[in-house]
Amino acid sequence: MGRPYYIAGNWKMHKTRAEAAELAQALVNELKDGKHEYLIAPSFSCLETVSAIVENTNIRLGAQNCACEEQGAHTGEVSVLQLKDLGVQSIILGHSERRHSYKEDDALINKKVKLALKHRFEVILCIGELLEEREAGRVEEVCETQIVRGLEGVDASDLSSVVIAYEPVWAIGTGKTATPEDAEAVHAFVRKVIARLYGEAAAEKIIIQYGGSVKPDNAAQLMAMKNIDGALVGGASLKTDTFVPIAKFS
Ligand code: PEP
Repeated sequence: MGRPYYIAGNWKMHKTRAEAAELAQALVNELKDGKHEYLIAPSFSCLETVSAIVENTNIRLGAQNCACEEQGAHTGEVSVLQLKDLGVQSIILGHSERRHSYKEDDALINKKVKLALKHRFEVILCIGELLEEREAGRVEEVCETQIVRGLEGVDASDLSSVVIAYEPVWAIGTGKTATPEDAEAVHAFVRKVIARLYGEAAAEKIIIQYGGSVKPDNAAQLMAMKNIDGALVGGASLKTDTFVPIAKFS
């Protein structure tokens, strides 16, 4: 059986609770007959509000980050236990904004990945190269390192709870999208790396999302590629007008 398409919206640091509730409710209505899998990831402050709206629907609730420890003296952090309590099912980890603006390294991301998996969350592990790394011909090396280090110590039995999101950093929020062919080449490579680490069967099953300026007018072309199994959408996930056509691409 083929892999499902999985479309996720990362709302980043946008929306008050009232705005988040309005968007979440509209998406529940619009996507209830949607053919793919869906997730929305509001900011921490809106999780409780959105949780009540997406509960028992076909939209999963995601968080955009978590602390690397279960609890304790970690001012300003949010723990997996608190996310569980809010009904969160999935956690986005290693987003490029966390890696580059907040200096999260692979070791920290790996700690979070293992903690989230231990607590039975789905993990969306984001990887991707900077423009200068692409220009220096280092795309595969960078992505491979992020995968190998991000998944270090992750058991094969937990891999079914892992999604990889390939997000070239130069394409995030810039309006520049990788061509479907360029994205496909990296996705195929990512699957090869997973096959080497976890075997062919696991590699065939793993969902690899593409992220980076996905819009209604480029979603279908990207999804048509053999190894692109969905999208992690930032800017275009903030409005029903732009997220719904992506989520319902055919
Ligand atoms: C993202 O932040 O994960 C992302 C892909 O953003 P955008 O769609 O706005 O490029």
